[in-house]
Amino acid sequence: MFGEFAPTPQDVYFRVLGIPCRIHPSFWIIAALFAFPRGGHLPGSIVVGLLLSRMTCLFVSILVHELGHALLIDRVGFPTSITLHACGGYAVYQPTRSVRPSVSMAISFAGPLAGFILYGIVCGIEYLLLRNDVFLRIPRASAYILLDAIGQLKYINLYWGLINLLPVFPLDGGQITRTWMGARWGIDGVRQSLVISMIVAGAAALWFYQENGHQMLDFPVLLFGMLCYQSFQAYQEVRRY
Ligand SMILES: [Zn+2]
Repeated sequence: MFGEFAPTPQDVYFRVLGIPCRIHPSFWIIAALFAFPRGGHLPGSIVVGLLLSRMTCLFVSILVHELGHALLIDRVGFPTSITLHACGGYAVYQPTRSVRPSVSMAISFAGPLAGFILYGIVCGIEYLLLRNDVFLRIPRASAYILLDAIGQLKYINLYWGLINLLPVFPLDGGQITRTWMGARWGIDGVRQSLVISMIVAGAAALWFYQENGHQMLDFPVLLFGMLCYQSFQAYQEVRRY
């Protein structure tokens, strides 16, 4: 969606479950901006605690999502790696032989699915913590940060997982729609999937604009406005083709 992020000397490299991962420095900057606690008059130590815990939640959630894609790509037999960057992340997927549309669709769905599984695990942990009165037994500041982290993990993995499944290109839902319609109706199907993408992205931008207090500079409004325009551009290109 946002192109490749070229390697820099500040990149951090590691491996998870055999998959090579890289963190581009832009990831930390944007993650800190998103994670910074707004509003209220909180003590400095809680602000720092919330910031670090929310950045960790973002990191874990995006990594788990991309791992969902990457583990299936690896299993299908293609080389892959994960990059986390300013606008989220991506798992490299360049098939070296033709794959069935159902396999491509499964690879697209594996990311949100991994997030839904993490959501289920977090709900289970929350239930156990509440049942054992853990929040009442630990210091209040820690309980506050832990509750916030649970809320963040649930919100990112369920809410954004579902939004990611909207038929908007190049979100995972848009990839699934395009693969399915392309396999069924060829180039006509691809063109129609881009029309759907344009309409749904435009409607989502308007919906978020209404919901979030009529602010043009709201993140989802900007995101879906841009995706609507990108779909329109892609549509023009496919029409020419
Ligand atoms: Zn994805």
